Amino acid sequence: MRFMSEKMTETQVKRLVELNADKEDLSRSFDSTTKRDDFYREKEKYYASVNRRKIIDCLNEKHEVTLVKVQKQLSEWLTGTKHYTQVVTPAFITKEMLSKMTITPEHALYNQVFWLDAKKCLRPMLAPNLYELMRDLKRVAKQPVRIFEVGSCFRKESQGAQHLNEFTMLNLVQFGGIEEGNQMSMLKDMASEAMVYLGIEEYELVMENSEVYNVTLDIVVGGVEVASCSFGPHSLDERWGVFDAWIGMGFGIERLAMVMNGFNNIKRVGRSLAYFDGARLTV
Ligand code: ATP
Ligand code: MG
Repeated sequence: MRFMSEKMTETQVKRLVELNADKEDLSRSFDSTTKRDDFYREKEKYYASVNRRKIIDCLNEKHEVTLVKVQKQLSEWLTGTKHYTQVVTPAFITKEMLSKMTITPEHALYNQVFWLDAKKCLRPMLAPNLYELMRDLKRVAKQPVRIFEVGSCFRKESQGAQHLNEFTMLNLVQFGGIEEGNQMSMLKDMASEAMVYLGIEEYELVMENSEVYNVTLDIVVGGVEVASCSFGPHSLDERWGVFDAWIGMGFGIERLAMVMNGFNNIKRVGRSLAYFDGARLTV
């Protein structure tokens, strides 16, 4: 029997990974480089055609990339059945707003902020704007306020397969109309409902202590944190002029799109000129 010792080269593996090839195809051994190269050529051709087909299907049939679809599904759930209103606020926020979230130089997130000038930055989260808006809306409308925003957030991440420097957050808040003590169970119910709406059957709800919020409830799918939820009354509330119970949930839309597609790298679904709806464009 001959010894199967030839593995695919780094370049070959890289290309097949780009094309989202099955893991088994990447770890095969061959008894000669010729056989290996033949195998590679055949697989490269096959996976390139799968990627091309996905791109054409999206253009001709789906008409929206998964990222957009996930945003829409959650937005429809919230506006259609949960009486939430979608809002839009600026992506530029002030240093002062960050510091009201305790994001000052001592905070880990502070070093991840993209600064525009000495006083302005690109928002690393939607929460500061929503804190302010929910307070004002409740003051004006004198009724419980349910709002959400979908928008880009920016963080200097040390990369990795689950982090983007620009990612899409969907953040919802309900302010008022909440019975004290019910916040956690409301969050758990909302989390389960969202998962049902997205067709995600297996997930875990994990309670954690957070730096910004006291207690958070994370939604974890296949080991990936797809959302983080928190509630008030909270120690930060007073500085925002907020004195009523609230609940909030922040979904990472790319993380959802990634796990829903079974991808193991978030770059495939994020804002990109290299990938289109999870498919590689160099095919
Ligand atoms: P992680 O621990 O994974 O870095 P986080 O605790 O920093 O996440 P939050 O600040 O709670 O995340 O943000 C809410 C949600 O936004 C997360 O649950 C995740 O789904 C998503 N998210 C956070 N940072 C990123 C990023 N850099 N790229 C993509 N999605 C992100
Ligand atoms: Mg983080």
